[in-house]
Amino acid sequence: MIKITFPDGVVREYEKGITALQIAKSISEGLARKVLAAKVNGQVWDATRPINEDGSLNLLTWEQNDGKSTFWHSSAHLMAEAVESMFPGVKFWVGPPVENGFYYDMDLGGKSITEDDLRKLEVKMAELAKQANSYSRKEVSKNDAVKYFRDKGDEYKLDLLEGLKDGEITFYTQGNFTDLCRGPHIPNTGFIKAIKLTNIAGAYWKGDEKNKQLTRIYGVTFPSQKELDEYLKMLEEAKKRDHRKLGKELGIFTFDDDVGPGLPLWLPNGTVIIEELEKLAKETEMDAGYKRVVTPHLAKESMYIKSGHLPYYKESMFPPMELEGMKYYMKSMNCPHHHKIFAAEPRSYKDLPLRLAEYGTCYRYEQSGELFGLMRVRCLHMNDAHIYCTKEQFAQEFRAVNQMYLKYFKIFGIDKYVMRLSLHDPAKLGQKYINEPQLWLETEAMVRQVMTNEKIPFVEVADEGAFYGPKIDVQIYSIIGREFTLATNQVDFAQGRRFDLEYTTANNETDTPLIIHRAPLGTHERFIGFLLEHFAGNLPVWLSPVQVKVLPISDKFADYARTVLQHLKNADIRGEVDDRNEKIGKKIRDAELMKIPYMLVVGEKEMNENKVSIRRHGVGDKGQKAIADFIAEVREEIVNRTSH
Ligand SMILES: [Zn+2]
Ligand SMILES: [Zn+2]
Repeated sequence: MIKITFPDGVVREYEKGITALQIAKSISEGLARKVLAAKVNGQVWDATRPINEDGSLNLLTWEQNDGKSTFWHSSAHLMAEAVESMFPGVKFWVGPPVENGFYYDMDLGGKSITEDDLRKLEVKMAELAKQANSYSRKEVSKNDAVKYFRDKGDEYKLDLLEGLKDGEITFYTQGNFTDLCRGPHIPNTGFIKAIKLTNIAGAYWKGDEKNKQLTRIYGVTFPSQKELDEYLKMLEEAKKRDHRKLGKELGIFTFDDDVGPGLPLWLPNGTVIIEELEKLAKETEMDAGYKRVVTPHLAKESMYIKSGHLPYYKESMFPPMELEGMKYYMKSMNCPHHHKIFAAEPRSYKDLPLRLAEYGTCYRYEQSGELFGLMRVRCLHMNDAHIYCTKEQFAQEFRAVNQMYLKYFKIFGIDKYVMRLSLHDPAKLGQKYINEPQLWLETEAMVRQVMTNEKIPFVEVADEGAFYGPKIDVQIYSIIGREFTLATNQVDFAQGRRFDLEYTTANNETDTPLIIHRAPLGTHERFIGFLLEHFAGNLPVWLSPVQVKVLPISDKFADYARTVLQHLKNADIRGEVDDRNEKIGKKIRDAELMKIPYMLVVGEKEMNENKVSIRRHGVGDKGQKAIADFIAEVREEIVNRTSH
């Protein structure tokens, strides 16, 4: 018998050689129908692979990322089988899962593939999926593996085999297709119920442009047709809401070749949004007892050696500059500067918790191929703060930070979010993580405790911690269901000691504070990118660069329009007058295109009665009102930060 430990800590005994799928069946048939793979002792495995030792078991379904990627990788095998039946003699390179689906790189031997072929392949894949062929695993000797692919004439797989040794080679077969693969895969093709092949692209073998160009086919599959339909609808919406498209149309940001890749320029409209977000953050942080600081954008090498950014974070930093025989680095994080502010004065327990906040500008190296609109940039403005506290204060402070996240989510209408506790990997202590095994375990337990006490749902992931401690990564979902990793709440037990940060305790001893790093609004770059998609560019009034546009029907009423504008300005409402010599219909259309929340049409009647005719973007005519009444209503919307 073997002992299996479940995620909730329950231990059960099973016959040696039992599979995860059989265990799932013994719990319920319904569960077994959903199990795609299993995590056995932390390693993702086929659900049909015998388990021969004691160990921990996580059953993976579509809901877990590992389950989903196993599903998509298995779909790549299914696609390869369909391709081989249509294009005999095709040779395959690799077919991994990606963020949304999978691809397979292949050599079609000079034949080309069309959109039409993709539709035929989808039909073939559906037919093969219906057969519910199992993915069967077989360990193969290197000699036999080489012979198989030599007979098949597939030099790409032979190239892969060169890097492998006897004992680590496995074949997987489903239906008529056998692939060299270390797995894992889903139990059988019958799980794949909906298929969409999305794209054909060229890809150089091994990513090297000196090599032959292979054909890459992208696809995505789902366990039901309903999920595929929803996904396609979401894609369609996402295209309309693309932050790069909206950012251009609404004059939010731009890039320039001379400024450099990944370095966005914020235009006047974008800058208004930035200032409104900072106002919100400053008000919120002031209420929560934070103090604001300002620090330089660079620092000497010695500081980053002390902080551990060199070497642990070196790859994400810009290369150093030399000045007067010293090296300087652009800051990739604000923490070390804040630690120096903590250290600038003697501190006592009465000063704690000390909360230092700054919208800090950071510079990070991202490969040019990874840059993407505002989502991946090289210059970022972070809603940063560091909280220095005692161990006793930690739980309360950590909880308060979590509550701040929730407050913001409410303001921005973010209904769906996931908190992820990212832990260290003991095997990488001293490389990726600071080598303090005991402190890692203690702080991880402390964070877990707070999350559990607060009844905040969270998932745990190994090997994703910061180099100085565990963290909570917060993933939020836009209204169309796209996921954004935005903010983190991190615990740091290491940097306080590295910087010799000390305070005097009540017993007149010295101790090192714990540090919480937090950035609930993430960076301006990513958060505004998110907001543009989330609101489809229709920002709430308080965030809108232009809140009200006054539209005189003709030149005759331009003076009255300017009087209205002055009233708006006096009430701190951002307005503009459209006094172009255009028809009123055109003025309205242009204001609608710019997604300006309120349009005030003014003509003879409005002028004589000191009124305005109101149009709401996306709603239409809202009738006439006295100027003062309109202003009172809009003020209320702005002050309450209403998101419609
Ligand atoms: Zn595979
Ligand atoms: Zn920090």
